[in-house]
Amino acid sequence: MANTPSSQRLQHQVALVTGGSSGIGAGVAKAMAAEGATVVVNYAHSAEEAKAVVADIEKAGGKAVAVKADVSKEDEVLAMFAQIREQFQTLHILVNNSGIQQDATFLEMTLEQWQKVIDVNLTGQFLCAREAAREFVRRGPQPEISRATGKIICMSSVHEVIPWAGHVNYATSKGGIMQLMKSMAQELAPHKIRVNSIGPGAIKTPINNEAWETPEAAEKLLTLIPYGRIGETDDIGKVAVWLASDEADYVTGTTIFADGGMTLYPGFADNG
Ligand code: NAD
Repeated sequence: MANTPSSQRLQHQVALVTGGSSGIGAGVAKAMAAEGATVVVNYAHSAEEAKAVVADIEKAGGKAVAVKADVSKEDEVLAMFAQIREQFQTLHILVNNSGIQQDATFLEMTLEQWQKVIDVNLTGQFLCAREAAREFVRRGPQPEISRATGKIICMSSVHEVIPWAGHVNYATSKGGIMQLMKSMAQELAPHKIRVNSIGPGAIKTPINNEAWETPEAAEKLLTLIPYGRIGETDDIGKVAVWLASDEADYVTGTTIFADGGMTLYPGFADNG
């Protein structure tokens, strides 16, 4: 559970967190539930993991359900939104968090590796955001619940701006998310829908465990982080709660980097 005292900033709101069954998504799901949101914990494969996140939220006094859907498949996304409408009537917050890596050198990358990462990381965010926006517009404003009619938060990465050799599929998907987020923000602002991204740096999750698991790997990683520590999922949960809350009502179309300074070109810190 988020270790900040709960102020119920997301009370009476329904939040969908894609890939909420592990890592950053689980951290965001727990943080939003602690602020009073009813959380839909989406998962693609592991019902066990998703149920464990739901159980943690319930144990802490929150509300959550687990819903299965592969975000890269249009029919499964449509079915997930239909289930949300049926069970909770509407949605207020989407956290587009699902993401994968399939690494290979550029010379060896297969079309399958390229396509899979683009399908999940970029097309998955498009499909879920489109359905969320359609639902926000259909439902219309509920100013007694939130000043914005709906909030979309895209989980991007420092790699929306930092090139990443050996990971061109992943870096391209995150660069794409930046323009997807900004273009949606521009188009949806008149509907009072806010769209923003979070750009995490290195956060301890299963996606990158080889980068921090051993002391040698952690030491090497820390050379890229001026603030001197590897991030925790709760660091991202707190930013997501703030972005979804009315405290951020004038914030749309921007990426908040939560990266301990990774985007500050640390290689130049001692004069380059
Ligand atoms: P993770 O592997 O723990 O989480 C990824 C989640 O996506 C899992 O819950 C997984 O089940 C889900 N997922 C994968 N394929 C899916 C599909 N087809 N449909 C639905 N869900 C699917 O890793 P994480 O680090 O928590 O990653 C979460 C997000 O944060 C990703 O978008 C990742 O790119 C981003 N991110 C992570 C870091 C980091 O350092 N951990 C840094 C920057 C960005």
